[in-house]
Amino acid sequence: MTAGDTTTPKLRVQAASKVYQTASGNLLAIDGCSFDVAANEIVSIVGPSGCGKTTLLWSMSGLHSLSSGVIALDGKPITGPHPDIGIVFQEANLLPWRNLDANINFPFEIKGTQPDKQWVKHLLHRVGLDGFGGKFPRELSGGMQQRAAIVRALSLKPSVLLMDEPFGALDSFTRDEMNRLVEEIWLDAPTTIVFITHSIEEAIFLSDRVVVLSPRPGRVAKIYDVPFPRPRSFEIMATKEVFDLTNAIKLDIVGDRIAKSRPAEAVQ
Ligand code: ADP
Ligand code: MG
Repeated sequence: MTAGDTTTPKLRVQAASKVYQTASGNLLAIDGCSFDVAANEIVSIVGPSGCGKTTLLWSMSGLHSLSSGVIALDGKPITGPHPDIGIVFQEANLLPWRNLDANINFPFEIKGTQPDKQWVKHLLHRVGLDGFGGKFPRELSGGMQQRAAIVRALSLKPSVLLMDEPFGALDSFTRDEMNRLVEEIWLDAPTTIVFITHSIEEAIFLSDRVVVLSPRPGRVAKIYDVPFPRPRSFEIMATKEVFDLTNAIKLDIVGDRIAKSRPAEAVQ
């Protein structure tokens, strides 16, 4: 493989399975998941609660290992936390006793390196947190904390950003705002993003492709292309094409459940 090799995807998920050993026995969380993520692509993963989305993302980040299968970054299997991979979780996970600057600095202290101060300043400006460096997490709204978490992840200049329902705890207006922010950041400096969400609208707004997982054990049920131009304006998001795609994905996820619930309803 060479630097100019365009056939190697940024991320390759190949037959990824994960079994958890629990007190009540083995639990198969994901089963034989395979898909690629190209460089600078945004791919969302959607699926019903408990289907293994977080399990899959943790495996992509190297936070835990797979039971079988391989996840490779630039063609090399991921075997543990990797400096090229950044993560943003649903909770901002800021340390409450550190101000915002010190929170952003924290991963660098652990690594024993210095952040690129100009880059961090640019990021803080980009997300509208200029002048908030001295504030403590309790002084920031949920949306602001999550912006800080995005800055913290991007300050490490990852080549892949993994996001696990990062805006799931925010109100819908703030969530829309944050989606636009991610789009703007990406348009400024495209990077590879894997985005987990249970909001189909959010997945369609942000992604080039949407991977739909089946109920647990999570298997890749379908992969949709999202061919709409960026930036994705309200006008684009209100088109019939977006509506139809949203419904198709929704049916994939809930259709199965509706079908299963019908016989029971018929009995009553
Ligand atoms: P999702 O993110 O799609 O809601 P998860 O990946 O969190 O799903 O969980 C998938 C399944 O694996 C669930 O049934 C969950 O209870 C189980 N699970 C997740 N983490 C663990 C763990 N550390 N130990 C045992 N079971 C787990
Ligand atoms: Mg989850």
